[in-house]
Amino acid sequence: MVYYCLWCEQKPKEWFSNWCAECREQKNLNNVYGFDRVLQIMKKCCIRSELQLEKKINNHKESIEEKKNGDDQKDYIKPVLRSDKK
Ligand SMILES: [Zn+2]
Repeated sequence: MVYYCLWCEQKPKEWFSNWCAECREQKNLNNVYGFDRVLQIMKKCCIRSELQLEKKINNHKESIEEKKNGDDQKDYIKPVLRSDKK
């Protein structure tokens, strides 16, 4: 019988712990940097507001449109051929 991590409930827990290796590592990082500080960083860096999400979606749509219009060729570096060298 497999016992799952009590935190993520997705990976098998380590035999000596209630958590899986990744969750134990996260817990250790929280202990080192402080639970409040890590939560603050995660909220600031990982969670996107509605406005940020819309900007991300629009940027992605624009990049798709550019590719459809052939603008992706602008990054193409023309190879130097022997005939080009003199
Ligand atoms: Zn886990």
